[in-house]
Amino acid sequence: MTTVIDGKAVAADIREQLTNSVETLSGEGETPTLATVLMGNDPASETYVSMKHRDCEELGIEARDVRIDGDAPADELFEAVENLNADPAVNGVLVQMPVPDHVDKQAVLQSIDPEKDVDGFHPENVGRLVAGDARYKPCTPHGIQKLFESIDLDPAGKDVVVVGRSDIVGKPMANLLIQKEDGGNATVTVCHSRTEDLAAKTQAADVVVAAAGVPELIDGSMLSEGVVVIDVGVNRVDADTEKGYELVGDVEYESAAEKASAITPVPGGVGPMTRAMLLYNTVKATSRQEGIPVDL
Ligand code: NDP
Repeated sequence: MTTVIDGKAVAADIREQLTNSVETLSGEGETPTLATVLMGNDPASETYVSMKHRDCEELGIEARDVRIDGDAPADELFEAVENLNADPAVNGVLVQMPVPDHVDKQAVLQSIDPEKDVDGFHPENVGRLVAGDARYKPCTPHGIQKLFESIDLDPAGKDVVVVGRSDIVGKPMANLLIQKEDGGNATVTVCHSRTEDLAAKTQAADVVVAAAGVPELIDGSMLSEGVVVIDVGVNRVDADTEKGYELVGDVEYESAAEKASAITPVPGGVGPMTRAMLLYNTVKATSRQEGIPVDL
């Protein structure tokens, strides 16, 4: 029997718990506030930002929407971030990626006050995570840890293969999994585009986290019986649908599900968790900044 891991349901539970914490903070006059900054008008980014705002609204978190023209000088973005850093009513600041080519992405990540960096991408927060003292865990890998908990999977001692080494998914996932703490203690192999014989690596894994951005890169023949599969990938492929495309993961679902003891679907697996954990970090940021303890 294969368990289909229901990310929507797990995320709904987390949001429900957060609602109480938001009420506590709001009751003390400290309504959590998340500011998003979007430079340019990339349609996918616009969709992500509007989803984040809708999520906030649902929970009673205040959301600020800062928009900057895509052709504006980079300084305009830095000035906006500086203003949000300095505003005591704002608890979380997030710059939607990607930024236009003329803007230095690393400089943007560094411009955000680390205490307000609810994405967890500021070098100080990356360093703290690596050092085992995370302030804000990046949303996608943190969400995946919550999915493990939801199926009572303790990664300790397990062979976990992470496919992908991006700064937002692969690397922080691997770093969290090797920590000497609950939710960690795994033996981790990180694969990427230069990995030779990916199938040999994934076949040896108890758990595979696929975050390569390559449609259906991993199929059942690359997996061992009883493996747990977490599919982070969200890829648009041409299809005979109304929109002309469909979303598929990095895992070929049907054949992988035949081997897996548990697997996440796409959509409805990791995606809802990423969204929920941003709300979690915003609540955590507010609690830290205002010195008001809440359940998290
Ligand atoms: P990136 O493009 O930043 O990184 C992809 C990684 O996969 C790179 O490290 C790359 O290697 C590696 N890779 C590419 N091709 C292969 C291959 N054939 N074999 C092994 N490794 C390979 O992607 P992200 O981490 O940002 O995102 C990954 C996927 O997850 C995307 O589909 C994205 O849309 C999705 N995503 C989903 C989220 C969610 O909430 N569901 C959140 C974030 C992302 P190299 O470093 O050598 O180039």
